[in-house]
Amino acid sequence: MAAACIFCKIIKGEIPSMKIFESEKTLAFLDIGPLSRGHSLIIPKYHGAKLHDIPDDQLHEVLSVTKKIAIAQGIENYNVLQNNGRIAHQLVDHVHFHLIPKPNETEGLGVGWPNK
Ligand code: C5P
Repeated sequence: MAAACIFCKIIKGEIPSMKIFESEKTLAFLDIGPLSRGHSLIIPKYHGAKLHDIPDDQLHEVLSVTKKIAIAQGIENYNVLQNNGRIAHQLVDHVHFHLIPKPNETEGLGVGWPNK
């Protein structure tokens, strides 16, 4: 845990979020600035800024949860996205995977990404 990290604060319940899944290692919640309906973030509880900072077991579960949420949402078209570093448009320095449903051609990743 990192005291100043906004996602660590969400994990600890110090900042509210719309949680959709929680386990010992993983948390998933709805993105506050959704690119499409159901846009969620899946994060390891282990704090690390970038993908290479995260232990494999944490990453395995995060991806497994991402898959389960996609199945639960019943979506066939979606993007899974994970940004590392400012130039790559990472805003929050706690590894997170975006799961962005793409129900039609106009919703989701499109005009505005990555600047929204
Ligand atoms: O991948 P990137 O770092 O650019 O994305 C961070 C995401 O975290 C944004 O989509 C933003 O809407 C989301 N966010 C959130 N809740 C917060 C702060 C940021 O869902 N309290």
